[in-house]
Amino acid sequence: MLSSMGTNTHATSRVPSVSHTLLLKNADVVVTMDDKRREIKQGCVYIKGNTIVSVGTVKDVPQTADRIIDLKGHIVIPGLINTHHHMYQSLTRAVPKAQDGELFNWLTTLYPIWERLTPEMMKVATKTAIAELMLSGCTTSSDHQYVYPNGIKLDHSIEAAQEMGMRFHACRGSMSVGKKQGGLPPDSIVEDEKFILKDTQRVIEQFHDGRRGAMLRIVVAPCSPFSVSEQLMRESAKLARSYKVSMHTHLAENVSDIEYSKKNFNKTPAQYVEDLEWVGHDVWHAHCVKLDDYGMKLFARTGTGVAHCPCSNMRLGSGIAPVRHMLDCGMHVGLGVDGSASNDSSDMMTEVRQALLLQRVGFGPQALTAREALEIATLGGAKNLNRDDVGALAPGMMADLAIFRLDSIAMAGALHDPVAALVFCNPGKVAYTIINGRVVVEDGRVATIDVPVLIETHNRLANTLAAG
Ligand SMILES: [Zn+2]
Repeated sequence: MLSSMGTNTHATSRVPSVSHTLLLKNADVVVTMDDKRREIKQGCVYIKGNTIVSVGTVKDVPQTADRIIDLKGHIVIPGLINTHHHMYQSLTRAVPKAQDGELFNWLTTLYPIWERLTPEMMKVATKTAIAELMLSGCTTSSDHQYVYPNGIKLDHSIEAAQEMGMRFHACRGSMSVGKKQGGLPPDSIVEDEKFILKDTQRVIEQFHDGRRGAMLRIVVAPCSPFSVSEQLMRESAKLARSYKVSMHTHLAENVSDIEYSKKNFNKTPAQYVEDLEWVGHDVWHAHCVKLDDYGMKLFARTGTGVAHCPCSNMRLGSGIAPVRHMLDCGMHVGLGVDGSASNDSSDMMTEVRQALLLQRVGFGPQALTAREALEIATLGGAKNLNRDDVGALAPGMMADLAIFRLDSIAMAGALHDPVAALVFCNPGKVAYTIINGRVVVEDGRVATIDVPVLIETHNRLANTLAAG
């Protein structure tokens, strides 16, 4: 049942036609992340269809449009890019028995619960994660989906993302090495490797859009070194490259992860991925908290990206990824919230703040500036995902933007530098999120779904899942 509010907001969330124009004007500041890193006071952005036409002040930008939004008292940034998530986990946040474990015992506590997931749960959980991301200014998200019990397919996540209007990189994850073969997951939840490859090829052929401006891409993404074989890693890389799609996995997350790699492969994680040809501009690895110097140089040389997930790393006590050092080495670093069972939030702006704070805990107050943290979450994310059409506001870029109020209680007294304030303070939810030219969050409300109904359904399914 739709509330009247739901009906109204749905009406404003239509996908704009190619000729529809949208003018954002009078913003206190527009952070472009363009080549010159311009921050434009009294800024305007002019959008036609799904593309940015011009960015500047009143004199640079047409002042008439089909729709005009006056942004006095607001800051505009490029939409944030989330490069690591497991959206289904939003059904298992703060599970009592998994609150205090490190990576391996956290996982072994949760695997038996995830085994009971259904297609309906997968779709609803994905929508919940996306609604939360949109409200935090995220406009592009990857989702690493690696559990497929009870008839679940990647198609279910894709369908949910399309309904919500998120720019989506669906990672066909997989687990093939169960306990019997020395892996971590229970044997009942792993898949056959031949089937994994066949199904990955199917989703690439059915869904992948390699064109500029794509709303949906497929990524080849075996889960982690401790849950798949070397053979599957090699075959996956071959498959991905034959279709020119990106590759993603977890790497060097904590000390147990390093020990597993040395014991089972007699290699460090960096040597392991180098031997398997899992390096290059078409590859990004999640975490890399314990990546060694050799690995950092290798990644910098080959253009291999890293998804830094500060909240998850703190939550599981995994350690502090040396992001400052990674950036100084010339590595591509993006940001990820990671799965909702180890964060337990899908708030990208909060993640930007935590990235800043955690680097400073590890490496001193000059380890990361507010603007660097914001750059990681925009341009850094775009590089991870191998895209040059998102992450900055400039003519020809896709119209993906996040807009925050500056007159909120959280920002009071911080307007000496609104851009830094966005990171140092806790600005809360967005006023507007625009994805592909479509206003998906309008006046702080998600316009593509009835959120109260979603929350009710989500909580009901989370209870069913927990009850077993
Ligand atoms: Zn993860």
